[in-house]
Amino acid sequence: MSGETASRLAARIRAEGPMPLAAFMGEAVAAYYRRERVFGAAGDFVTAPEISQIFGELIGIWFALRWHAAGRPARFPLVECGPGRGALISDALRAARSVPGFADAIELHLVETSPTLAAAQAEALAGFPATWHADLETLPDGPLHLVANEFLDALPVTQFVFRGGAWRERRVGLFRQDFAFVDGPEAAPPAEMLSRLPPPREGEIFETAPAAESFVATVAARIAASGGAALVFDYGHAESGFGDTVQAVSRHRYVQPLADPGEVDLTAHVDFARIAETARAHGAAAFGPADQGVWLVAMGLPTRLTVLLRQATPEQTEELVAGTRRLTEPHAMGRLFKTLALLPVSAAPPEGF
Ligand code: SAH
Repeated sequence: MSGETASRLAARIRAEGPMPLAAFMGEAVAAYYRRERVFGAAGDFVTAPEISQIFGELIGIWFALRWHAAGRPARFPLVECGPGRGALISDALRAARSVPGFADAIELHLVETSPTLAAAQAEALAGFPATWHADLETLPDGPLHLVANEFLDALPVTQFVFRGGAWRERRVGLFRQDFAFVDGPEAAPPAEMLSRLPPPREGEIFETAPAAESFVATVAARIAASGGAALVFDYGHAESGFGDTVQAVSRHRYVQPLADPGEVDLTAHVDFARIAETARAHGAAAFGPADQGVWLVAMGLPTRLTVLLRQATPEQTEELVAGTRRLTEPHAMGRLFKTLALLPVSAAPPEGF
């Protein structure tokens, strides 16, 4: 264990006892994204928009089609949550410029808590005007058009463990000098989530994502009330189930999840079944989840790749082909990563679903 966040969390545990995993994860993630080195080959992990420009471009086209479907309004607020270094949105804006009138209608809003990344996003936008927000609360009223890639996985989760015939909350304590999971007080996961699963065996773990659920509930309620569309991408599972999915990545390798809070990328897989169910419960229609690879191909990735390859140098060709493979192939990111679309209940299935 090293670093300022680890020391602060350890002091808190020594003073107050084991802490909820969600509180530990929330502090660790917030501290982590304030750092300089996160993304890319020299950082800890690489995301889809950082692998290929086509990812963000196809998202730009998807929203252009939503803009058309909405009757090409003069003002089109577009929101990205957790934009990282701004690759997705700058690629989306480039594609938007190829659709007459669309780029001029876009009013860009970025939801970001890291000042370091907000600065990187401003630079990537190269003068395109945007407004930054700490959360969804301050977004303008009216239809909500929103995209998020690898955002939900960064939101804190809660875990329960089935021990001696009862569910207990899993907490983070200290074992000698190291953070370790400990059984906390008796507490059960929501009954409606368990009712669809087989009876738990001794030691079974169940995860819930209250922050992701409340985010999706807010987005769905806004879409139900005022219209719009949301497109979320992440890694995760299409069906709910038992299991611990909390993971940490440092320099492109998996590491002990609790070992270095604030220094490594700490995330959890997204339960897309639960996210879709939450969206429906708040009045929106949910389409998918579609496998990311399937969605990208359905959105025209092969055609866009052919166009880019026409003017590519041999090095660029290699990079474009390798990037496309990584995003789409099932054993790479094509299947583990999924996308879910939220629309008003009466809407027809959107492009790619
Ligand atoms: N979408 C980007 C980056 C994903 S990393 C990409 O695909 O490359 C997660 C992003 O979410 C970072 O920008 C991080 O600072 C931001 N983030 C994490 N927790 C957040 C929260 N609670 N509220 C707002 N942004 C958050």
